[in-house]
Amino acid sequence: MLDHIHALLSSQSALRVGLLCALILLVIGVIDQLTGNEIALALFYLIPVAIAAWYLSRRVAFLMALAAAIVWLLVDHTSGQSYSHPAIAFWNALVRLSFFALTVYLMSIIRQLLETQTALAQMDSLTGLHNARSFGQASASVFDIARRHGHSSALGYIDIDGFKGVNDSFGHSAGDEILKAVGCALTKRLRVSDLGARLGGDEFAILLPETSMLGARSFFKDLHAALLDLAESNNWPIGFSVGVAVFPFPPLNSDEAVRLADDLMYKVKRSERNSVLFSEFDVEAKNTVKTGPSISQL
Ligand code: GH3
Ligand code: MG
Repeated sequence: MLDHIHALLSSQSALRVGLLCALILLVIGVIDQLTGNEIALALFYLIPVAIAAWYLSRRVAFLMALAAAIVWLLVDHTSGQSYSHPAIAFWNALVRLSFFALTVYLMSIIRQLLETQTALAQMDSLTGLHNARSFGQASASVFDIARRHGHSSALGYIDIDGFKGVNDSFGHSAGDEILKAVGCALTKRLRVSDLGARLGGDEFAILLPETSMLGARSFFKDLHAALLDLAESNNWPIGFSVGVAVFPFPPLNSDEAVRLADDLMYKVKRSERNSVLFSEFDVEAKNTVKTGPSISQL
């Protein structure tokens, strides 16, 4: 139930959520007025404040906290609540406002921490690219969209050749520097809609939505040349074996797509290494390859 409410609120615009908070506050104020002083509704005033704190900006949430404190003060005043001194009503309003403001502050901090943790959990800490798990999820939705619109996608699988040798000869931190530089070179070439990931060790993946064999050839040939330039200019004794699977009709399962690109990369590893192998797969909804791979090499 809470999950449904969360999903619903998350999908709404800030204006709609703000209007909803204002409406909830109004309804609570009216009910509080009608039920009089004997029935406590204090907790309910927190509902619109908490919703605003979680789904809207901190500034708007503070405004909602102020509005809740004012509505509560007005209801107190109009429902005949009497105090031994008139200033007590304002003191109470100030205490409630502080309580709401503290709630807004704490909730917005928790939300920020949660967002940061979620982003970190999806990221490869060395390169800033997606990690394997998040790439799996993100590529699944890219394929979903591609399938809906009947668009082609290209998935490249890159493994560094001779990377273990660099670790052995120059140390693990030199290896890390290479992984970072490769990650940076990939990131530079990605469009906003493209996905780049370090799947583990010295293995990277790139998913290009809306890309046919022609576009994939151009992109991955350029990328391969740029990676070789990078290695050469730093005197790194490495190469790059790349398998590129092009899907005119994407597979239902993104793991299957990665496996097909991985298989191509291994074909390169087992043959001349340090080159790019392209293949087009026409995959039916049941994940079977309809037409055999037409392989073209650099
Ligand atoms: P091949 O040419 O056949 O691809 O072999 P390779 O030497 O490149 O080694 P391989 O791809 O089989 O294995 C990758 C190595 O990368 C294994 C591991 O020691 C190393 N490695 C894995 N993760 C990291 C990391 O985060 N940092 C560093 N520096 N090395 C890593
Ligand atoms: Mg390798």
